[in-house]
Amino acid sequence: MKALVLEERMKLALRDFPIENDEAVGPRDVRIKLHTVGICGSDVHYYTHGGTGVFQVKAPMILGHEASGTVVETGAEVSTLKVGDRVCMEPGIPDPNSRATRIGLYNVDPAVRFWATPPIHGVLRPTVVHPEAFTFKLPDNVSFAEAAMVEPLAVGVHAATKAQVKPGDLALVIGAGPIGLVTALSALAAGCARVFVSDVDDAKLELAAKLGPITPVNVAKEDLSAAIMKATDGWGVEIVFECSGHSKGAEGVFDPLCPGGRVVFIGSQVHDIQYNVGKAMVREARVEHVFRYAHVFPRCVAMLSSGAIDVKPLITREFAFEDSVHAFEVAASAPKGEVKMQILMPQ
Ligand SMILES: [Zn+2]
Repeated sequence: MKALVLEERMKLALRDFPIENDEAVGPRDVRIKLHTVGICGSDVHYYTHGGTGVFQVKAPMILGHEASGTVVETGAEVSTLKVGDRVCMEPGIPDPNSRATRIGLYNVDPAVRFWATPPIHGVLRPTVVHPEAFTFKLPDNVSFAEAAMVEPLAVGVHAATKAQVKPGDLALVIGAGPIGLVTALSALAAGCARVFVSDVDDAKLELAAKLGPITPVNVAKEDLSAAIMKATDGWGVEIVFECSGHSKGAEGVFDPLCPGGRVVFIGSQVHDIQYNVGKAMVREARVEHVFRYAHVFPRCVAMLSSGAIDVKPLITREFAFEDSVHAFEVAASAPKGEVKMQILMPQ
């Protein structure tokens, strides 16, 4: 079976990878034929840097974790899914008996096994075996492409949940990449009256402005805090979502924040981020951090189906699986205006 394998840093190969034979379908597992796989910033980072923090690629690893597909085999005890069901999958499998999992925080279970995070293989390959509990049936009106967006969308929905959005809140999202934009959509769906989105890429900001009541701010041209204060009569926004991961963006999170506001740190950090506790203190700011997501996949699927959230404008480019090495080269060049690129698996 052909898979997209990261052999080592900057070296990808589309080649046979004998993994299918090792994957038996357990009683509560399903085997899924992959249909669409999104390219995530983390996949690209493993490709260009060979690792991040404690996760280093030490042996060839299959990339990809944002996926949808069709059930082709079910375990003996599977009751909610059947062969032929269209599904999307939550890529992190925690230890069901761990203490973190038992208190509901399964995403921060230290033993979680997450696709395309070394040494766990991803899903840019024909099939994968996955637990029924982390596989979600799609309504007919949700496409495979939209379903492969559920994974990044889940990050935004988890962040909006942590922020405890109230109807009519104003929010600022720093960073207009895929995670920034799904966070803006999630904040609006959760009840925000308006969301400001900041970035330096005009093409991304232009796209953002079409997604709803979103005001773009190009921080290469104007001062972010001044722009927010002007737009809010000097009060500031109730919520700041930090999705850039850049220390410059992150250090300024409290400047546009209103008294009693909330800050959610979402973007992963390339370098350490420091923030000013004094500025947080005088606002009595509440600061939250998110790591991936928990308990939100069914909510994301429901919102895509109802139309509460539309992710289709974020999918800016598709590649055939045979061209997936090229797709990663394109993604690594960080082309302007591209948000989410997806790879279509052979059916
Ligand atoms: Zn992702």
